[in-house]
Amino acid sequence: MSLAGATQDEVRRHNLAALVRFLHDHGSSSRSELVSHTGLNRSTVGGLIADLETVGLFRETEPVGRGVGRPSYGVEPARERAYVLAIDLRVDRSIVALVGYGGAVLARREHRHRRGQERRVVAQLAEAARAVLAEAPEDGIGVGIGVGVPGLVSRTDGMVRFAPNLGWTDVSLGHLLEEELALPWPVHVGNDSDLGAIAERVRGSARGSTHVIYLSGQIGVGGGVIVDGRLLVGAGGYGGEVGHMQVNPDGRRCRCGAVGCWETEIGEAALRAHAGASARTSAADIVAAAAAGDETAAAGVAAVGRWLGVGVANLVNIFNPDVIVFGGALRDVLPATRELVRERLAHALAAPAEHVVLALPGLGDDSTLLGAAEVAFEPLLSDPLGTLAGTPPVGPAMAGR
Ligand SMILES: [Zn+2]
Repeated sequence: MSLAGATQDEVRRHNLAALVRFLHDHGSSSRSELVSHTGLNRSTVGGLIADLETVGLFRETEPVGRGVGRPSYGVEPARERAYVLAIDLRVDRSIVALVGYGGAVLARREHRHRRGQERRVVAQLAEAARAVLAEAPEDGIGVGIGVGVPGLVSRTDGMVRFAPNLGWTDVSLGHLLEEELALPWPVHVGNDSDLGAIAERVRGSARGSTHVIYLSGQIGVGGGVIVDGRLLVGAGGYGGEVGHMQVNPDGRRCRCGAVGCWETEIGEAALRAHAGASARTSAADIVAAAAAGDETAAAGVAAVGRWLGVGVANLVNIFNPDVIVFGGALRDVLPATRELVRERLAHALAAPAEHVVLALPGLGDDSTLLGAAEVAFEPLLSDPLGTLAGTPPVGPAMAGR
């Protein structure tokens, strides 16, 4: 943002937002860190901190550091002051959480659901949402709802256009949730891998990187791509669907209708098919069986590893990422196939291949959930005072609605 010609009030709001975002992303910080991050002088930062303490977003902590001279008092995010509802809608189950300012999960529920049946799924989500909201901090203010979905989500209206593994086509998930929950907060629906990429970059293993790819391997395979610090969304919001790049024209039919998509070779179902395992066997079980000497399982893991390498080599050539994060079932697959992936990477262009880091998620199984929280926090992070002033408090009382 250019501040040339801005009024004093606009400059102050901009500076407040910068501090609120920094503390949300970094947690407890010393005043000197806030001074060096914002480039403002110490007394201006002191004034802004006082403002944010008044609205309850910041809290003073004990002196940080034991150096010589005056002790520097730090500040920490008051995580119970503002919170969001975060939903990770997966193919067979959902996780619903209350996430406080600063990224702490305050309450969570998990439940299973069936393929299709969107009305029923929305009712279940709302029930879980009411349960976590019943645990909301009394003086806290809800500022948004974020939802991650394994499918194509329109950037203009949050409509779930096509989620083949969920069995959904053209579902207005945001509107359905608004109706069901009747909360005055904005609802942001996004692609699960996009949200995973955002969270891993803010507080996971891609922290500090500007070129990131997050792969989510559930039943399908999705990709979230961050280029130069910005999420690649595409013209309609459907960019980054790396699971549907064609790698094997002679391969299996995909749920999207095409043949030989990457997910038909590296998804969890593909791993089971390659390993001759039953429908209920998890990726972790197959990898464990392979490690224990089961030859069929080992052949399956190796096949997936080679296909994983083929796709990764393409992504490295196209995007030249700093880091690729392997989420979902790929968290179990990567450690067992890292060498095979590296072997295939030898076929990628040497310069970008040498550069890339292949990483496991820093946030474990919660990348998408915490990414959903990040987008829901965006109004607060962009305009903290306006958001806190304009949002009617909705505490535990509404939970029994
Ligand atoms: Zn496909």
